[in-house]
Amino acid sequence: MKIVMLGAPGAGKGTQAKMIAAKYDIPHISTGDIFRANIKNGTELGKKAKEYMDRGQLVPDELTLELIMDRFTNPDCVNGYVLDGFPRTIAQAKALTASLEAKGEKMDFAIDVDVPDENIVDRMGGRRACVACGGTFHIKYNPTKIEGKCDLCGGELMIRDDDKPETVLNRLSVYHTQTQPLINYYTEEGILKTVDGTKDVNKVFEDILEILG
Ligand code: AMP
Repeated sequence: MKIVMLGAPGAGKGTQAKMIAAKYDIPHISTGDIFRANIKNGTELGKKAKEYMDRGQLVPDELTLELIMDRFTNPDCVNGYVLDGFPRTIAQAKALTASLEAKGEKMDFAIDVDVPDENIVDRMGGRRACVACGGTFHIKYNPTKIEGKCDLCGGELMIRDDDKPETVLNRLSVYHTQTQPLINYYTEEGILKTVDGTKDVNKVFEDILEILG
C-alpha cells in the first residue's frame, strides 16, 4: 500500500503516518526526518538543506527528489510506504507520479489531515521532539507520560528550530502557496481522502483505518 499524507505543518500527519506504518508494517518515509538526520551527521546535503529549513522555506526540488528517489530503491519499500512531508510541491508530485508510472505502479491513497489555520499556530508551538530518537509529541494533544521525557526512549524533549514562532508563520504561508495545491492534484487523480485532524489522535487514526479498509 502506498500512501501520501497531506496537511499543514503541525496538523498531526507525522504522528498518523507513524501509526499507519506500524499497523501495516510499511516504512514511514519523512523527508524532514531524512534532512534532519543529514544535518545531525554534518553531510553536504544536510548543510545545503539547513539553510532553507531554518528559514521555513522548502528545500529545492532537485535536492529533495534525488534524496527520495534513492530512498525508494531500499528493499523495505517493496510492499509500499507512507510518505510524510513529500511531495510538497506540484513538481514533486508530478515527478513521483511519473516515477511510479515508469514502474507500472501508482499511489493508492492521499490522506489530507485537515486542521484550520487558527489551530495550527497553537499546535506547532506545543510540539516537542525527542533529541535522541526523533519521537514527536504535543504538550496538549499528544502529551508524554512524564513531562519533558520521551515516552519511547526516555530522551530529552526539545522544540525543533523550525517550530519556533518566527518560523511557523512562514512555514504556514509556504504550505498555502506551494503544498495546498496538491489537494486538487490528488483530487483529480481520484485518490484524495480527507480526515478531520482536529479530533483526538486516536479518533483521527480510526477514521484513517476506515478509509484504508
Ligand atoms: P517537516 O519535518 O516535514 O515539517 O519538514 C521540515 C522542513 O524540511 C520543511 O520546512 C522544509 O524546509 C524541509 N522539507 C521537508 N520535506 C520537504 C520536501 N518534500 N520538499 C522541500 N522541502 C522539504
